[in-house]
Amino acid sequence: MIQHHLSPSVQELSSTLNKIGLRSTKQRLCVYDVILDKRDHPTADDIFLRVRKKLPKISFATVYNCLETFVECGLVKKINLDRTSSRYCPNLAPHAHFKCTESGAITDLPICEETLSSLKSILPKGFSLAGFDLSFHGTTPSNN
Ligand SMILES: [Zn+2]
Repeated sequence: MIQHHLSPSVQELSSTLNKIGLRSTKQRLCVYDVILDKRDHPTADDIFLRVRKKLPKISFATVYNCLETFVECGLVKKINLDRTSSRYCPNLAPHAHFKCTESGAITDLPICEETLSSLKSILPKGFSLAGFDLSFHGTTPSNN
């Protein structure tokens, strides 16, 4: 769980939203709570179904707007590993993703400072880095 230490808690979400002039509505808190609760890189559809269990009247558009807000404030990362729907990840620490081609499961792979600077060293002079997406795919050890 150490790789998730940089994710703000639901309480911190309120202050982050307030700082940029957004209210911490019940909907936003609930959507964020759902994202922190199960870190399996859900799609917007997955998140909508989970949030609806708590807020039965919420619409998909509202959930989607909450997600876009979180992505804009840098609280959640939107990841696109393939041509399917975008997925959401609340892990803000530098990490790569590994997608298992058999189960579809996506695992966070923490990237240490040393590896990160080594990766950055491939950038040509004058290139300014704003972020990166690094993903692997293949199979993971099975448990049977
Ligand atoms: Zn992730």
